[in-house]
Amino acid sequence: MRYLILSDLHSNGEALSAVLSRVRRRAYDCVVVLGDFVGYGADPNDVIERVRRLRRRKVMVRGNHDRVASGLDTGGIFNPVALLAARWTTQMLTADSRQFLVELPVGPIEVDGRFVICHGSPLDEDAYIFSDSDAAWNFRSLGHDLCFFGHSHIPSVFTLEPDGIRVDVVRGRRQRWKLQPGRRYLINPGSVGQPRDRNVAAAFAVYDADKGVVEFERVAYDIAAAREKILRAGLPGALGDRLLIGA
Ligand code: ZN
Repeated sequence: MRYLILSDLHSNGEALSAVLSRVRRRAYDCVVVLGDFVGYGADPNDVIERVRRLRRRKVMVRGNHDRVASGLDTGGIFNPVALLAARWTTQMLTADSRQFLVELPVGPIEVDGRFVICHGSPLDEDAYIFSDSDAAWNFRSLGHDLCFFGHSHIPSVFTLEPDGIRVDVVRGRRQRWKLQPGRRYLINPGSVGQPRDRNVAAAFAVYDADKGVVEFERVAYDIAAAREKILRAGLPGALGDRLLIGA
């Protein structure tokens, strides 16, 4: 069983197109989305529609931006730029798209008895996992050896080893990560729509559960077009500019 793992799409239609055309001829059985379909970018309905149209089984959780843009939460903890983008998104969402976001389950959820998915962390969809100590709390509460999470927008692997937690930031255009039996993992595939690891390319991963391998991948997309749409929509210019530097 192969799982395409997408996170933090953030209304970036160009980035999602590039990812989907990269995997078009690739074998995968299930699409897993770790939340934040919307927020920041200018294509909320388009991004939601394209994921919905994929003819694969889908397992998805909502992200914090999905929660706020769909009106389930006022966004009190958002910074002003994120809040502006969420308000803009709320106005742009079709009734269908809004309903889709409202109905997304809250993580963590278990997938096929094999692994767990969540947005921020298994304990809290708004919490970040950046450090070994962030990971330690979550390993303690996690009932599985493998969890995919998003939210930080940094492709990363946290491994619970006998003598502590190893933290790896995943670099490069393609990385094959073999999971070791007896180890436990918290894994972030990176962000499709707003990479923040100073690599501007869209990030995603494919998990081959039979082989125990996670393939991390990056794909270039039309950043200029995505930025232009953000500017034309009247969204804060900083949201377009950060795509140019991957931050
Ligand atoms: Zn996000």
